[in-house]
Amino acid sequence: MEKEVTERFDLLVIGGGSGGLAHAQRAAEYGATAAVVESGPLGGTCVNVGCVPKKVMWYTAQHAHQFQHAADYGFDLAVRSHDWGALKVRRDAYIKRLNEIYARNMDQRGVTYIAGSARFIDANTVEVNGREYRAERLVIASGGRPVVPNIPGAELGITSDDFFALEQRPQRVLVAGSGYVAAELAGVFNGLGSETQIVVRKEGLLRSFDTMLSTELMAAMRDSGIALHTGVIPTTLAKLDDGLLLNAADGRKFGPVDCVLWAIGRIPNTEELDVHKAGVLLDDRGFVATDNLQQTNVAHIHALGDVTGRVSLTPVAIAAGRRLADRLYGGMEGRQLDYDLIPTVIFSHPTIGTVGMTEKQARAEYGDDVKVYTSEFTPMYYALGDAKRRSSMKLITTGDQERVVGCHIIGEGADEMLQGFAVAMRMGATKTDFDDTVAIHPTNAEELVTMRQ
Ligand SMILES: Cc1cc2nc3c(=O)[nH]c(=O)nc-3n(C[C@H](O)[C@H](O)[C@H](O)COP(=O)(O)OP(=O)(O)OC[C@H]3O[C@@H](n4cnc5c(N)ncnc54)[C@H](O)[C@@H]3O)c2cc1C
Repeated sequence: MEKEVTERFDLLVIGGGSGGLAHAQRAAEYGATAAVVESGPLGGTCVNVGCVPKKVMWYTAQHAHQFQHAADYGFDLAVRSHDWGALKVRRDAYIKRLNEIYARNMDQRGVTYIAGSARFIDANTVEVNGREYRAERLVIASGGRPVVPNIPGAELGITSDDFFALEQRPQRVLVAGSGYVAAELAGVFNGLGSETQIVVRKEGLLRSFDTMLSTELMAAMRDSGIALHTGVIPTTLAKLDDGLLLNAADGRKFGPVDCVLWAIGRIPNTEELDVHKAGVLLDDRGFVATDNLQQTNVAHIHALGDVTGRVSLTPVAIAAGRRLADRLYGGMEGRQLDYDLIPTVIFSHPTIGTVGMTEKQARAEYGDDVKVYTSEFTPMYYALGDAKRRSSMKLITTGDQERVVGCHIIGEGADEMLQGFAVAMRMGATKTDFDDTVAIHPTNAEELVTMRQ
């Protein structure tokens, strides 16, 4: 079939998610003619099946948690039920509004929106819906998607994408996975009343995080009624009359349950791009190989966000996209994202905030130069009742100056607490700077400036 007329742009971005949109819009602000190709809804993972709907669900579970403590504060409260379906209608409407805002923002900046799936024809040309588009520069920002295990019956389970399509809450749930998505979604199910189990392949959750965080989170989850099973290698998922049954390699069986959610990792969206036609190299895990300047092996093709397999977070994709545009179109030579000291939050119950080195990493790098400060306490919020949830904090310092290189918090408010401390750490804050800062009382955050060894 004869291809349609070719359109030309200064910049063509594949993927209208967090990173792709941020890059195209910033480039357009500098005067580039830019286009974004998006095969799904605008906004990508974060807006549609990630951060945003996840945070709505976290707020919902957080309400349930607070209702449990209402009596401690004198309220006579009877919560009759929770309508998951009604919540979903409101959540979907909010996301649709966001999709529209994204489309409007592109329009206002003069960025062309091409709906469809892009694949490379050559290093300057992509094809979408049978039409060819040429650009001087191209950016791959096609993100990733959840994986399911390669075992019989795996298709009976759902992924995080499907979680956001659930019309009602399953009563008996099994979540397979040990990362933050598993921890967060299990917390939502449990908080809203599902009997929740988590199975992990190794010895626990969040294994790449500081040990204190994973230990405390697992304890908090177990206290809140989640059954956590370790050393589980799933072999088959079977459908029985009374639900789904997960079989493990060591003979253990988990279930029957109404829903199995696979949260075992994500893979990059690269297969359908035909990147080889542009000569772009992938790394051995299938991610687009880039350096710190978001540069691929082809001079005029860049990649950013989850598809690069670096730190997979929305603000990271956005920052990489904007800085790349600043450098390529805004005349800011050398401008790039610093991948060090990126703070992140896990919306578990309780929340986790973490930035910098784990204790293990710090000891491996600085040996005896490391000093660790910890604090464990029960927040005042729980003072009036019997049900209590602990908070724990850890500061890791190095050298004579005791520069703070790691800050790890699990407990109420960790999510909102961390951002400012991350700024301080980027500025090179020392333990003395923390100590010299007057505490805000009564808060949980004050523990971070009053720690002693
Ligand atoms: C359940 C969950 C919760 C999360 N929570 C958080 C959180 O709380 N905080 C946080 O910072 N991050 C969170 N993340 C991670 C965050 O969503 C991602 O890091 C972020 O969306 C990455 O942005 P991106 O632009 O690289 O990719 P994406 O946002 O995934 O965008 C890529 C886009 O490319 C499109 N695409 C793919 N292939 C093609 C093609 N061939 N042609 C055209 N378009 C294509 C896709 O449809 C998609 O819209 C979460 C992720 C998940 C799954």
